[in-house]
This record gives sequence, C-alpha cells and structure tokens, in this order.
Amino acid sequence: MSTPEPYKIKTVESIYQSSISERQKWIKDASYNLFNLKSQQVFIDLLTDSGTGAMSDKQWSAMMSADESYAGSRSHTLLGKAVKDLFGFPYFLPTHQGRAAENVLFSALVSEGNLVPGNTHFDTTKGHIEFRKAKAIDCTIDEAFDTHHQHPFKGNIDLKKLETVLASNPKGEIPFIIVTITCNSAGGQPVSMENMRSVRKLADQYNIPILIDSARFAENAYYIKTREDGYREKDIREIIGEMYAMADMMTLSAKKDGLVNIGGLIACRDETVYRSASTFNIMFEGFISYGGLAGRDMSALAQGLYEVTEFPYLESRIKQVAYLGENLLKLGIPIQEPVGGHAVFLNALEFLPNVPREEFPAQTLAIELYMESGIRGVEIGTLMADRDPVSRENRYPALEMVRLALPRRTYTNNHMDFVIEAVKRVWTRRENISRGYRITREAPILRHFTIELEPVE
Ligand SMILES: *Cc1c(COP(=O)(O)O)cnc(C)c1O
Repeated sequence: MSTPEPYKIKTVESIYQSSISERQKWIKDASYNLFNLKSQQVFIDLLTDSGTGAMSDKQWSAMMSADESYAGSRSHTLLGKAVKDLFGFPYFLPTHQGRAAENVLFSALVSEGNLVPGNTHFDTTKGHIEFRKAKAIDCTIDEAFDTHHQHPFKGNIDLKKLETVLASNPKGEIPFIIVTITCNSAGGQPVSMENMRSVRKLADQYNIPILIDSARFAENAYYIKTREDGYREKDIREIIGEMYAMADMMTLSAKKDGLVNIGGLIACRDETVYRSASTFNIMFEGFISYGGLAGRDMSALAQGLYEVTEFPYLESRIKQVAYLGENLLKLGIPIQEPVGGHAVFLNALEFLPNVPREEFPAQTLAIELYMESGIRGVEIGTLMADRDPVSRENRYPALEMVRLALPRRTYTNNHMDFVIEAVKRVWTRRENISRGYRITREAPILRHFTIELEPVE
C-alpha cells in the first residue's frame, strides 16, 4: 500500500531544467564546488534537507500573528511551551540555528583538552569542539561503517568504546556525551531507545551529563516506533518524551525537524547551565527571549515542532526517502543500508572504484551527477572530514559518500523517478570515470563549504 502525502500543494515554485553544456560551464565557474552553484543552476536540489522544506498554512498564519517584542514576546512563550510539551525541559534559549546553539552551549561547557564522546559528531559540532581545542571521539558501533550490514539502529553508540573513554577521565575532562538523533554523518541512521537507556546508565555511573543533538528527533522517534520492540502502540510524542527524559540538555537545528527555514535552540534541566549559556547567548545571538530569531520565526517553529510529530507526516516523509533508496538498490547501486531517515547515501568507493582516494571519489561522483542531470547532492567524505588538526594531513574517513538529502514536503515521487534515472545513467558509465579532482584553495576549518578544485588530467 502506498503512502500518499497527508497534505495538498497550495503554492508552487518553478525550477529550470538546464542542458549539459550549460552545467559543464557552471560547475567549472563554481570551481567544482557544488556549494558555489546558484540555485537557478540546479534542477532538483538535494544538497541538504536543512531549512529547505515547505512550511504549512498553519505555520504561515502563525508568522502573521507572531509578536516582535524585544523582551517577553508571546512567540517566545509559545516556543517555550512547545519545548516543555515535547522535550520536558524547563529552560530554553532560542538561537538562530543549530551551530549557534553549539557555539553558545559549548562556550559555557567545553574547554581546552576536553574529550567529547558521541556517535559520529556532525561537522559543525565537531568544528565547535575542535575550535576549543577539545577532542570529539566517535563511539558509533562498527556496523555503521559497513554499508551493506543490515542493522535497524546503525546510529547506536558502542558501549564498550564509550566506557573506555569515560573510564579514561581522571581529571573530569568530559563535559558531556553527545547522542545525535538521527546520526546524520553515519547516514541518517537512528539510535534505539534501548541504546539510549544503556548510555544513560553509563553516564550515571560516571556522573556525566547527556546532550542530545536533536536535528531529526521526530524521524528517530518514527524508527523507534516502527523498528523497536514494545513501541509499535506508542504515540510519537510519548516516544519523544521517553527519549528526552534520559537527557540533561539538547541542542536543536530547527531547520530539519523543526519544519522551518531558520532557527535553533538549546534546552536543559539545570539552572546553572542555563544561566551560564544565557550570558553567551546575549553576546553571540541576541537577548534570551529571541536569540537571533524574529518573533515570527519562533512562532513558525513552535507550530512546526508539533506538526513534525504527526505520524502520517512522518510516515510519508520516511517512505519517500525509502522509495528513492530502494529503487536505487534494485538497480544494484551501492548505498548505505538500510535507507536512512532524511537522505540516501551513495557509497562512492564502490560506485567509482577507479578514482583514487586522493582524488576525492565522493566529490567526483557528486559532480558527475550534477553534470548528468542538474541534481545537486553533497560530498560526505574526505573533503568534509577535513585535515587532522595536528598533522594537517587529509583525514580519510571510513566511508566516502554522496548524500542525496530530501527537503521536507518539497518534491514528489515524480522527482524521485528522475533522480533514480539520473543516478542510473552515471552508474552505467562508471567504468569510464577514473580521474577525480585536486584542491587549489581551502580554508583552515570546515573547508568543504568554500573549497576550490580542478580536475586531475
Ligand atoms: C544541521 C545539524 C547541525 C547544525 O545545525 P545548523 O542549523 O546547520 O547550524 C548540528 N547537528 C546535526 C545533527 C545537524 O544535522
């Protein structure tokens, strides 16, 4: 039985289908960095699911009735109520997006020499840890790095790896453990409730708080409901409540499951943490009642947080991603399995085995797909993994992937059919792709956003 979208379309935006010769010129002008393309040069934009989704009529109405007062805004109160209802945290601070929440909270909690264990840290999260000369330690289960291994919760934390880090902490250098739901960098893979419970137990044993990096909290709850024993009858909101009862604090990029185009927040249980973070929020983001957001942004987010927890929405969302992934699998195309919550990840090492690692096979594949069809994905590989902060050598991650992220409520399955056909065409001529790219310019940190490349002849 198919799962139609539980909504209909009220506003549409035209997109332009360009020719191959146009795209060859544009990508060269963009220094072979897909972040440098203009959106008009892209036909189907799967660069990210962040801030690219469609808002509902109720969210647009909420924007109109929002309150733009500097202090004590009604929109702030509405957002605080949603945070309390869904996550149970008494304290919260709005921020302009997820990395701003990291900047503010980590300014209060992370210092030089600290260790921050977690399941594959998101790039900005890792950036904010390393910027403070602390170390992010990846404790994801090994199964996550074998793309063909079938595991329902590949975002899980390996408890042995975590305990090794916790036990090595005589000087109290671990400010918190990060649980990222779903685990973006590992392929949008969920974390099970059972795993979170075990992490909580260890955290208690060593007296260390837990931070949930929450960008896709509702998608994670959907997987718990549909894959984990004992949760099938539970409501998504109940599951979310249970997940967050195990955490001490959260950061949220609202641009994903917040169903808004901009926004973020921090929430916590501890008043001291809240007060300390408030000072940094005022310095970096804005007064504590708006944190870099307009009142209308907070109102839209408050509404979005409730909408994203509705099961019919989540089901059509996750099933659209699965539709894309499973059709690629049927063609024998190597992707991260099982298909994750927000994106399909092409395994570039298997897709383009002839391109040497030093020439960035995932970036090469992303460029090929763009030139073939005007579809924009993103490299999740060596460019994104960046250089080792000490040795300055390229850090080769276990996987080289191209992520095709699906914006929420934006594209139809007709678009997905076009994507499937385009990937298939690159797949058919994969043997002929044997050279990649070399770097001509790069920034010292988070280089992939601005990197410049040229083809290796
Ligand atoms: C997107 C994201 C962030 C950063 O949020 P921004 O809103 O892009 O600044 C942090 N963690 C995870 C897991 C994310 O997906």
